[in-house]
Amino acid sequence: MTKIETEELLDYSDVLIRPKRSTMQSRSDVEVERNLKFKWSSQQWKGVPLIAANMDTTGTFEVYNVLSKYGIVTALHKFYTPGDFKVQKSLNPNMFMVSSGISDADFERLQSILSEVSCNWICIDIANGYLSSLVTYCKKVREAFPDKIIVAGNVATREMVEELLINGKVDVVKVGIGPGSACTTRLKTGVGIPQLSAVLECSDAAHGLGGAIIADGGITCPGDVSKAFGACADFVMVGGQFAGHDQNPGEVVIDEKTGKQFKSFYGMSSKKAMETHYGKMEKYRSSEGRELRIPYKGDLNNTVLDYLGGIRSTCTYIGATSIKNMGKCLSLIHISEPTRQEAISYAVFCLK
Ligand code: 5GP
Repeated sequence: MTKIETEELLDYSDVLIRPKRSTMQSRSDVEVERNLKFKWSSQQWKGVPLIAANMDTTGTFEVYNVLSKYGIVTALHKFYTPGDFKVQKSLNPNMFMVSSGISDADFERLQSILSEVSCNWICIDIANGYLSSLVTYCKKVREAFPDKIIVAGNVATREMVEELLINGKVDVVKVGIGPGSACTTRLKTGVGIPQLSAVLECSDAAHGLGGAIIADGGITCPGDVSKAFGACADFVMVGGQFAGHDQNPGEVVIDEKTGKQFKSFYGMSSKKAMETHYGKMEKYRSSEGRELRIPYKGDLNNTVLDYLGGIRSTCTYIGATSIKNMGKCLSLIHISEPTRQEAISYAVFCLK
């Protein structure tokens, strides 16, 4: 019999953060860097736990050049060739990830890149992380690279986090099925889990096993990042919000009617991405991504500073001295639908 779960699951926009008394003096007292040690690789990492998504609009060397200055990681997209890596000078091994799919060709590319450049991170990324072939591939990568921090995903429920951490021998699980700004999975397939609840469930599962998670997708503003850290995400991955800048690829286009400036941003399984990288869209696939226009935002440095400022400010509202402590200090309030709609229309108004 088909089972219907009736427990309410929540997205970032369904909650707000409760302010609390605090003795903190200033936002500058907040520690935004984290020190993490990983389960299998035993690697130590220190940095700001934000990650630019491995999309070809955000996971680029140009974006890396900005984010690495802040200690933020860039997951480089999987269409860079070994040759593209070779010509890069002095990449910081802690501040970028080499992305991989799960085919034999992906494995060969991974080996080839890692024999050329020093990098501590591997990001094994497929849209549907519930396939058993992902776990098999993760094991193979762990055998070949015992010292690398291995990330794998995407999943959104406890049992698959456990499977990837225990049997896949990965250090970090990427969490998010359907929340991405350029994602249409929920519409095309009906599959998905509201992201805040997914992060709560998966972080609990991972931390019990000494693993970590990345909350991937659905960030619309700095407050969403704070909510994700409050739900005990170890890292937050950002796509659309890190797109639309001078440092992202593509031309600025001007809307003829409004005069507003935009840049193109598209999902990695959108028709646009398929045509860009493979020349066509296979007939058996449906596109689970879309192309959208992101308001042109100028220099990426300003957006990064805005995000870091927002996180620092949340910490002072809840008395958290560091991102690490946000999960312990933060209480979330489930807000009513009218309040939620008001917040959404305000956000839309700001974007206009
Ligand atoms: P955003 O920060 O833009 O809300 O979400 C970024 C995330 O969306 C990415 O890290 C990735 O997990 C997901 N994503 C990127 N492209 C696609 C796509 O074409 N389809 C789906 N379903 N998800 C995508």
